[in-house]
This record gives sequence, C-alpha cells and structure tokens, in this order.
Amino acid sequence: MKVLKFGGSSLANTTCFKQVANIVHDYGKTGPIAVVLSAPQGITNLLVSLVDSLNEGNSNQSDQELILQKLSAILEDSFTQFPSIDHDAIAVAFEDLSVRLNQLVQGAKLLSHCPSATQAQILGTGEKFSVALLNAILQTLGNETSLIDPEKFLTIDDRAAEPVAELEISKKRFSDNYSNLSTIAIMPGFFGVKLNGETGTLGRNGSDYSAAILAVCVQAKTCEIWTDVDGVYNADPRLVADAHLIDKMSYHEAMELSYFGAKVLHPKTIAPLSQNQIRCRIKNTHSPQNPGTLISSESTVGEMVKAISNLSDVAMINVSGPGMKGMVGMASRVFSAISLADISVIMISQSSAEYCISFCVPGSEAEAARDCLNQTFELELKNELLEPISVRQNLAVVTLVGDHMQQQKGIAAKFFKALSQARVNIIAIAQDSSERSISAVIRGQRTDDAIKVCHQNLFLKKPAIDAFVIGCGTVGKELIQQIHRQQPRLNDKNISLNVVGIANSRKLLLDKQGINLENWLPALNDASDQLSLQRLQAFILEAHLNNPVIIDCTSNEAIAMSYHEYLQSGFHVVTANKKANTASFDYYQKLRDAADAKQRRFLYETNVGAGLPVIDNLQGLMRAGDELVQFEGILSGSLSYIFGELHQGLSLSEATIKAKDLGYTEPNPAEDLSGLDVARKVLVIAREAGLELELSDIELEPVVPEELANITDADEFMRKLPDFDQTFQPKIEKAQQNGEYLRYIASIEGGKCKVGIQSVDSSHPLYSVADGENALALHTRYYQPKPYVIRGYGAGASVTAAGLFGDVLRTLAWDHEH
Ligand code: ADP
Ligand code: ASP
Ligand code: MG
Repeated sequence: MKVLKFGGSSLANTTCFKQVANIVHDYGKTGPIAVVLSAPQGITNLLVSLVDSLNEGNSNQSDQELILQKLSAILEDSFTQFPSIDHDAIAVAFEDLSVRLNQLVQGAKLLSHCPSATQAQILGTGEKFSVALLNAILQTLGNETSLIDPEKFLTIDDRAAEPVAELEISKKRFSDNYSNLSTIAIMPGFFGVKLNGETGTLGRNGSDYSAAILAVCVQAKTCEIWTDVDGVYNADPRLVADAHLIDKMSYHEAMELSYFGAKVLHPKTIAPLSQNQIRCRIKNTHSPQNPGTLISSESTVGEMVKAISNLSDVAMINVSGPGMKGMVGMASRVFSAISLADISVIMISQSSAEYCISFCVPGSEAEAARDCLNQTFELELKNELLEPISVRQNLAVVTLVGDHMQQQKGIAAKFFKALSQARVNIIAIAQDSSERSISAVIRGQRTDDAIKVCHQNLFLKKPAIDAFVIGCGTVGKELIQQIHRQQPRLNDKNISLNVVGIANSRKLLLDKQGINLENWLPALNDASDQLSLQRLQAFILEAHLNNPVIIDCTSNEAIAMSYHEYLQSGFHVVTANKKANTASFDYYQKLRDAADAKQRRFLYETNVGAGLPVIDNLQGLMRAGDELVQFEGILSGSLSYIFGELHQGLSLSEATIKAKDLGYTEPNPAEDLSGLDVARKVLVIAREAGLELELSDIELEPVVPEELANITDADEFMRKLPDFDQTFQPKIEKAQQNGEYLRYIASIEGGKCKVGIQSVDSSHPLYSVADGENALALHTRYYQPKPYVIRGYGAGASVTAAGLFGDVLRTLAWDHEH
C-alpha cells in the first residue's frame, strides 16, 4: 500500500487536478493506494482570513464570496475539461459544501466569535472540495473509489502548544471503520477529530502530517508527498537559484530541516513515518517521471552538511537580571510558564553564568510569552532582580543540517565565517547535542544574503566575485579583456568572477547575470544608467550580490573621494587611481577604518610600480616587524625611459618626443615631467611605512621648471619644451664627465620624502635602471647593508591590468586573512 499526498500547489486549478487524477489513475493500476488531498492553493489562506474576521466580530462577506467564487470557477472549468463528469453529483456536493459553510459562518456571527470546532470545520472546506472534485474525475476515468473521513479516526490531541496525532487511538479507530477499501481511497488532509470529539486541525501545512498518520494506519510501505518542486533541495529553491536536489536523506535530516523551516514538509510528518519505518518520497506533480527525494533510515555518507534551512518570523525573548545568578530552577520556571501558555519554543541559548536565558518563539507568540513571563516573575521584576523581559521581533533562524556533521571539526567555523562574509550579525547560536544541526539567529531581513552565501561557501564551494569596472580607457579595456580570457580557467578552479557593471564617464551598464565581455562596448553605449553610488547600492541589494568589487581604472578625483562610501556600503575597492591614497591623511585613515569595520578589502597594488608587487611586499615586511630605514626608487616608467635616452645622446625634448611617440607618456608629457605623479607614489610608500605625511610635505624638484610643467595643453608644451634643452643640457654633460647617469629618483630618509634628479655612479643600485623599467630599493632593518630590490616594467596597460586583476582575486569571499 502506498499513500500519496497532493499539496495545494498540485491542486491550484483544473489542469492540476487533471494531472493529479492521471497520476492516481496510473498508480491505481499497480496496487492499492490511499490519496490525501490539500485544499486548492490559496483557499486555506482565505478561510483563515474569514475565521479571523469572524473572531473579530466582523460580518464582512467578501472572503466567503471569494472562496466560493474561486472553487466554483475550478468546478465550471472541470465541466469543460471532463464533459462526461457527473455534473449533478458534483453540483450537489458543492451545494452541500457552500450551505454548510454558510451555516457555520452565520452561527459564528450570532455568537460574535468562532468556537474552535466551528473554526476547524470552516478551515477544512477546501480539502473537502478537493476530495469531491478529484473523486468525480477519477470515477469519470473509470476508477472505483472509496472515501475516508478523517473525523472517524484521525485523532488529535490539541492540549499542547501544537496539535499532535494520537497514533494508537487513530490506528484502532481506522481498523474499526475501514476494513474494506477500494483500490483507490481518498481522504481530505489537514483536519481530524479531537480527543473531546470535536473537529480539529493539524495546523497550517498539516496535510503532510495527515498523510503520515494515514500511512501508519494503513501500514503503508511508502508515503509520497507530491508538490511543485522535484524534491528536497539543499536550500530553499526560492532563495537560492542553484540549490541542489537531494536524492536521499535520513529521517533525522528531514526532521531537522522541516523543523527549521523547509516548507516542503510539515515538521511533524517524519516522526510517525520513521517510527514505523515507512519510507517517504517527495515528488513533483508537474514532472512525475523524476525520482524525487527519498527519505528513509539510510543516511548517505560523504556529505557532511546536507542542507541549510531558514525559519522566518521568529522572536527572541530574553530573561536576564542580576538576581538570576542565585535563583534556583530559573530555567525550569521560565519554560514551565511558557509551556503552560501553550507556546512552542524553537530554540534555547543560555549563558554559562546563568545570567541570561534567551529563547526563540514564533513571532506571533512573542507577546503572549512576554505576558506570561511578566505574570510568573511579577515579584522578581518588581524587586528588580530581573530586568524587564525583552522581546526582539523580526528575526530568523538559519540552520545547517547533516547527519555526518557529528564529530567533524570546522563546520561551525565555516558556517559562522560565511555569515560574517555576508556581513550578517549573529544574535544567538545553538547546536543540538547530536550535532545534526547548528542554528544561528539573525535579523530576518538578512536571511536571503545569509542563505545565499552559506550555500555558496558550504555547498558550491565556488566563491563569487561581482566586479564593477569603472573607467574604460586603455587599462580598463585591457582588464576586461584579461578577465574575459581568464574566466574559463577561473571557472575550472571553481571561482566565479563576473563583471556585473561597466561604467565610463557617461554611461553605466549593469547585468546581474554577468555582462557579455565579448561585445560589451555597444551595450555600454546603449545603456541608459549613469554611475552613482545610489544606483549601485540599489543594484547590489536587488541582485543580492555579496562580494561586490569596485575596480577604479580612472584617475578621477571625485571617484577616489567616494571610496569611503563604497566601502561603507559593502563594496571592496580595488584601484589603480592614486588620488585616494594621496588625499589628506585623515581620508587615508578613514578608508582603512571603513574597510576594517565593514570587513572589506581596499587594495591598490597598482598605485606604485603598476603590476610589480610593491605594496604587498612592503606590507608583508611591516607585518613581520621590519622598518623602512631608507628608500630610493625610480617610480615613473616614462621618466625612466626619457632619462635613459638622455645618455644615448638625445636632448630632453628629443627623448620626450620619442617617449610620447611610443606611448610611454601621459597624453600631455608635462604631467610626467612635473614629477607630481612620482611624488604621489612615494607618498603612498611613505604612508605604508608608517609616516603620517601629506602630499605638500614632499620636497619636489620637477624635471622642467614649474611654468612649463603647468602647461595643460600638450601641443603647447611640446612646442615650448625644446627652449629648455639649452638649460638642461649642461646637467647631462656634467654627469657624463663624472662617469655618472642622471636619474629621476624618489627617496625617503629620516622621515622625509624627496623627488628629483640625481646624478648617480655605477655603484648606485639605480644606475642601470632605464628603458621604462621601475626599480625600488628598500633599505630596511632586516635588509641591510644591501637593500631589498624590486625591479621590472612599472607602467603599461597590460601589467597594470594584471596588477588590478591580482587585487580583484584577493577579495575572494573567504580570503580575509590579511
Ligand atoms: P504544497 O502545496 O505541495 O504543500 P508547499 O508550498 O507547502 O507545497 O511546499 C513546497 C514548497 O516548499 C516549494 O515550492 C519550495 O518553494 C518550498 N521549499 C522551501 N524549502 C525547500 C527545500 N529545502 N526544498 C524544497 N522545497 C522547499
Ligand atoms: N490546506 C492546509 C494549509 O494550507 C493544509 C495543507 O495544505 O497542508 O495549511
Ligand atoms: Mg505544504
């Protein structure tokens, strides 16, 4: 014998009823079955609202009318879909239902409230309708059927906070009443009879439980729960699009999962099945060919964490106070009071000093819990031995479930780390003693992000980066190309790097699925958005992005000054733009504080030496307790090239023209020859080494005099530069006479930074650095007398983009160690 239960989502309209009828018809050919039905989708909600309004003494007819309208629409439709259906029989059954509903409603109106038996009878109307209609359809398909009335056997004990079935009584009553059933028997789910003989329900979603009770009574081998998803997923599929279907799970796992909120099963369903070794299978009415999820005593090895669930609308009650330490039996007094008030407790956490007991209850029961505790502890509260009982509403419980979490180390750590990466604050935690579940209480509105990141870290094990590239000049374009080229390899390494935003100074292109990097430029030109922090904030919220990274490929000051807000809003910031790190020291510090507070990365390896690993190395040395004693470096690729050429016989203007033609300079070479860019770089190094300097503290000797360096028009600058050759030439000659080279060197010594031309002999570490190379000589406490030298090409789109790319990967979700 098999029991098949079809939920409301499987009975939403006549087409669904038809699918159900076909499934039942086919199963009926293979052996006896019992079918349990819910109400058509949405009907119980309306019935609950009708009961609520009756209890409030409200005589509003609209719910009642709407219910009957919806049911009669399904009925009418079935007359069309099944022309040979027994119209008269079904019309009479429907008429009986509506008359009965009306009588119950009128009775309650007279009383100005709805007694519990009347409530249960009203609430079961949808289930009764489903049975009447499916029965008629099955008979039309030529099946012989019999009906089971749950009020004749399904016995409910409603004395505790939640109704439970009296299995032994139910079994006995069932065998007394139903010894002879047809191959197909049909029963409405959700309601039954209470110990006092009145109608009662099993609570919302209770038809699953009805099916389990019936399965025990008919001694079924299997109880199938048919719904609108392919089975149990490892996370709520409504929240996590790439949740995995679970093929097999143990009774224990299913119990924990449903208890902690997985709506696919009513939490009480599994216990009777497990006690009687009845297998349970979750199947999809809309794709019956799929095997679904099997729940049995078998527990699959290999998967430590099976699933994650979320229970919403939870409240936390806090009982605490100075007097609690000495009070004997506090926990027992708290929980007996709560249990006497029929309030169910979801989870408990208690501080070891017994100074505080916190527990969670359904949000709707929080006030009742507070009232009952206020009464119980009236005296203690009055004498201020206890603080006023506090209630925190709108919380959620997120739970990891898995049989094989037992004795495994590090799972809780991964769980809490994932929550911290999602920037979700944990309010309380609990682990059951069998170690099959670990729960964290969080703010309800953070549930989506929490579940998504936990799923990503614990199941997919595929960290995701959601990148926003700002600035589409040569570096930005090159970076996008490098990401595009590298994406398949990252994917193989289980890293998902998606560019979800690209912006230039006019447009902003967004796509939460990831922008197609093959052909992004036309799409950017067609985009209607513009870059703004607010737009990006709204976007990450709606797309639930947890690891968003801003990659600034501009040299724009306004963008640099908005990093603080980006960090505050949860973005990591990766930048090639030096303007932020060389703004005021206050701002410099503010950025680091915000990054620490928000657990985001602020990375700027390309600020000095483009792709050369300067900042990271320097930070590594500093962390290891080293100190920068002295620094010398060639930090500008264009000046390194120009100064090299000076000693090949070119004049300053000739060398500059050559460098410009090769694309080694800024569009206006005045910016290179002003030395300001080098000054910014040395400031970044100095600050990294712990010096609290401002840009204005740097002693700067430009290559060309200020009146030339300040020319903003490139053509004008290039026209005027040759006039300066005469003044400059003697410097070159003098160096050469001494066997020395001129180099444009940035240095730090004695807490001071200098940038300017130096004439160096062949013993100097920077003597041979030309051709566009950068070199940095770090004289530190550990590295002496020979310095730590970093050398290589320190400019150019590809090395800069590669440096940015490296920083982007360092933002990976669980790489927060630095
Ligand atoms: P029915 O009407 O068949 O009783 P429910 O709506 O009560 O269906 O339960 C099925 C729904 O449970 C699914 O549509 C799904 O959105 C939700 N659900 C929540 N968590 C899970 C999970 N872990 N696995 C499968 N479904 C889940
Ligand atoms: N119809 C009831 C409800 O919506 C029972 C069920 O569907 O399981 O709660
Ligand atoms: Mg359900």
